Order: sequence, then structure tokens, then C-alpha cells
Amino acid sequence: MPTTLRSYLQDRWIEGQGPLATLLNPATEEPLAQTSTAGLDLGAALDHSRAKGGPALRELTFTRRGEILRVWAKALHAHRDELIALAMANGGNTRGDAKFDIDGAIATLAHYADLGSQLGSLKVLRDGEALQLGRTSRYAGVHLLVPRDGVAVHINAFNFPGWGTAEKAATALLAGMPIISKPATSTALVAHRLSEIGVETGALPPGAFSFLCGSPGDLLDRLGPQDVVAFTGSSQTANKLREQLGRRGVKLNVEADSLNAAVLGPDVQPGSATWDLFIADVARDITQKAGQKCTAVRRIFVDESQLAAAQEALVERLSAVRVGDPARDEVTMGPLSTGAQLRDIRAGIARLAAESETVFGGDGSVKALAPEGKGFFVGPVLLVARDAAAAKVMHTDEVFGPVATLAPSASMAAQLVRRGGGGLVCSAYSDDRDFLRELVLSVAPYHGRIYLGSEKVAGQTFGPGTVLPQLVHGGPGHAGGGEELGGLRGMQLYSQRVAVQGDRAILDAIAPAAI
Ligand code: NAP
Repeated sequence: MPTTLRSYLQDRWIEGQGPLATLLNPATEEPLAQTSTAGLDLGAALDHSRAKGGPALRELTFTRRGEILRVWAKALHAHRDELIALAMANGGNTRGDAKFDIDGAIATLAHYADLGSQLGSLKVLRDGEALQLGRTSRYAGVHLLVPRDGVAVHINAFNFPGWGTAEKAATALLAGMPIISKPATSTALVAHRLSEIGVETGALPPGAFSFLCGSPGDLLDRLGPQDVVAFTGSSQTANKLREQLGRRGVKLNVEADSLNAAVLGPDVQPGSATWDLFIADVARDITQKAGQKCTAVRRIFVDESQLAAAQEALVERLSAVRVGDPARDEVTMGPLSTGAQLRDIRAGIARLAAESETVFGGDGSVKALAPEGKGFFVGPVLLVARDAAAAKVMHTDEVFGPVATLAPSASMAAQLVRRGGGGLVCSAYSDDRDFLRELVLSVAPYHGRIYLGSEKVAGQTFGPGTVLPQLVHGGPGHAGGGEELGGLRGMQLYSQRVAVQGDRAILDAIAPAAI
């Protein structure tokens, strides 16, 4: 009998009643756990967070809030192997994929812990300098960022249960908002354990942290204008939430789909450091986490003269991938997370193949190193679009698996990148500054982040798929229009910006400037 996961509401662990959802190992289809949120009193949970968690956090200085994050990060580090094992079992992650998620969670918490200690004894952030408004400097105005007086509801996608939970928690708690964190049900084991470890530290003030393990029930219908929903997931769910929450005046941040592009500059020659970086980054992005990464490269634009060599180099990399159960040492790419994902991705590959030529991986069928007939496996697939300007699917459908389309772009690379309708990250590889300047300025309005790969930085980049807490994450249009992280910028989602004008000495007493 698989264990039943509990939610953490009103500072206690509690089991839902009624129909249970089952969490599987996607490589073996073995049931691992079950969960339900039916019958849980979400109204009381929200009241508790608002009445206890918000005031308790707002009372703490940034240093103290940062300490909570530091203690949590250290506790996760102490349980790192256990969390990695859970990610491998429930997420279909290889060990490397699992480390990417768990270490990302720890590093992001630690980064925000550092920001907390840098902000010191302040409790409220100033946005910019005080401005003289009167005849003398005595009469002034200042913009403050104060924590919103509600609850931050965090809804995460299935693909990063560790990092997704931690990055949202870090920014909200440092900003001074209590949270209710809801993981995707299918891969909730990591988020559940990460939450247990956080609670076990004893560092979280009462009401500051809650965890809802399964369906959100009527939680969102109970939110109001002081609350925030930070959502990561598909565009379809995002659209439902926009409608549901817009009516209620709830602040909503959406991190959704993205048709991330990689562009190779015409100057880059096969065998150069920049070329090798491009091939390594793109091949990693296609296969890491079986392509179930919101930042993964989906479209690859090269010059016609580079097409054959790029195709050959990528096919060589993809041919070396060994798909199977991540519990086996020789496996380098695991399964997709769910059966539903497998069906979606197989259908997506067929749609892409209708307008492009498949040069590797066929329809995604694969003989996996796994128990016969079990698991949600798909092999890596590379397609080539001879006419990327005429193609449609490659620019509109996010096929959320190990699948990418390569295309000659001639001088139209920037236009083709923009056809994605707004992305999380665009990567460009070149040592030609003029080419990069033109490309960056042309695609910048359509992206949250741009990654430049060149000879001089080839040895020190993390690849475009790695989201860093120092830099903003999110993107316009298709990508959801949201923004998270970016150091202190990430706290703005959880804050009200208020202009306060009056006697400068009184303003200083209310909210001192940072030293
Ligand atoms: P999803 O089906 O939209 O689910 C995302 C989350 O929303 C899950 O926690 C899900 O809960 C919840 N949910 C579903 N319907 C809901 C509703 N009506 N009300 C409230 N919550 C609801 O997406 P997914 O399949 O998990 O994730 C894959 C997608 O996420 C991909 O498109 C990927 O690009 C995107 N993604 C984006 C980012 C980013 O940072 N931009 C990062 C990762 C993933 P249940 O699991 O309980 O149904």
C-alpha cells in the first residue's frame, strides 16, 4: 500500500479525505504514494496564514527572514541524497537531472538568505532615493515596497518540484508574505519532503508556510486583492486562472510555455570554442530532464552554410543518449513524468513532422532500458525545417519533451526568433559583436533573458537552460508575461509600492534608508 501524503495547514500535517490521486514512478509505473486534499478546510488555512503568518514575518528584520531561508537551505543540503533519490523515483530524473532540481532549490534559498543578511535590520524596502518635493529638503517623498497583507499562493509545474517550490518560497518569505505552496500532484514527492524538512527546522514562524498536496479545491475562489498567485505551468491553465482571479482582483504572475530559440552566428566555424559550446548547450537542452524544461531550446537557427555540420554534430550527440529507467547506471535520459505527457508529446512530434523533415529519432518510439512494456519513454527527436518562415507549428506549439527543430535562417534569424511570440530565454552564439548587438536589440522585447555564448566565456557558462536567482526569470507573451527572481526584484511581486510624502525625518523614522 503506497503511503498517503499529507498537507501542512494551520501549522499541522493533515490528510485529505476522499478520492486519492496516485503518484507513480514514471519508469516502472509502480505506485509510490497517494494524496488528496478533499475535506481540508482551506478557508481556515487562509485565515490562519493571514492572521498569524503575515504579521509574524513582517515583524522580522530582513536578516531574520534570511536566516529562516539559510536554515532551510542547510537542512535540504543535509538531506540532499534523499531528495535526489525521490526526484529520480517520482520525476523520472537521472541523477544529474535530479541534482539540477535539488541543488537549484538549495542555491536559490541560499542566495535569498544572503540578500536578507545584506539588507540587515530593515523591515521595509525603499525603491530608489528620497526625492525633495518642497522648497527645502525637509519636505520629501519616498517610494516604499511593503509586503502585501495577504497570502502568496504558489502553484508549481510537475517538472521542477524542488527548485520551483524553493524559488517561490525564498522570494515571498524574504519579502514578508506567508505562503501556501501547491506542487503539481503527479511529482509531489520531492516538494512534500522539501516542505517537511522546512517545517522540521522549526525556523518558520507559525502560519508563515503551508503546503497543499494535491488539488487546490476552492482555494483560489477564496482569494482577494491583497493575495498573490504565482503560477508556473501550461498556458491553458494560466488562461483559466487569469479569468478566475482577474474577477477577484488577485495579483497573478504567470510563468508558462516558451519556444526558446538558439541562434548560431554566421561567423562561427565548426571546431571553434563557440561552435562546441553551441552544440554542447543545445544537445544538453534537448535531453536534460527529457526536454521537460521550460527553458529548453526548441528552435535552432543556423546559417544555410552551417546546417549540415550542425545537424551532423547534434545527431552524433543524440545517438549517444541511452533512454531508460534512471535507476540503471548506464541510462542518460529518463522517461517523461506522466502518461498524459507521453501522449501529448507523441502528438506534438507528429504535428512538427507534418511540416518538417525528421532527421533523428523518428516518431519518438524507443526501446528503453526498463521493464518491458512499462514507463513513459520517448527518444530524442531532431527535425529540420527547410522553410522556417513558412512553418507554423515549430513557432507555436511547445512540445514539452526531448524534441527540437533545426532550421536555416539566412539573415532572418531575429524575425524567426520573434515568431515564438515571447519566450523565457533566447541564446545566441557568436564572436561578432555587430551581429550580436543587432540580434539582441531586435529580440530583447520578446524575452525575459538573453544568453550569449562566445569564445571568451565558453569555459564558465551554465547554459541557457539554467535559471539563476540573480537574474530575472519569465518572459512576455507566450511565456506568460510574468517575472520572478532577479535578486531583490523578485520581491516586488509580493509587495505594494507606495509613495509616502512628508517630513524627511518622519519618513526616515518610518522606513530608514539602507546603510
Ligand atoms: P499544468 O497542467 O498547467 O499544471 C501546473 C500546475 O497547475 C499544477 O500544480 C496543477 O495541479 C495546477 N492546476 C491545474 N489546473 C488548475 C486549476 N484549474 N486551478 C489551479 N491549479 C491548477 O502544467 P504542467 O503540465 O504541470 O507543467 C508543464 C508546463 O509548465 C509546460 O508548458 C512548461 O513550459 C511550463 N513551465 C513553465 C515554467 C516557467 O518558469 N515558465 C517552468 C516549468 C514549467 P495538478 O498537478 O494538481 O493538476
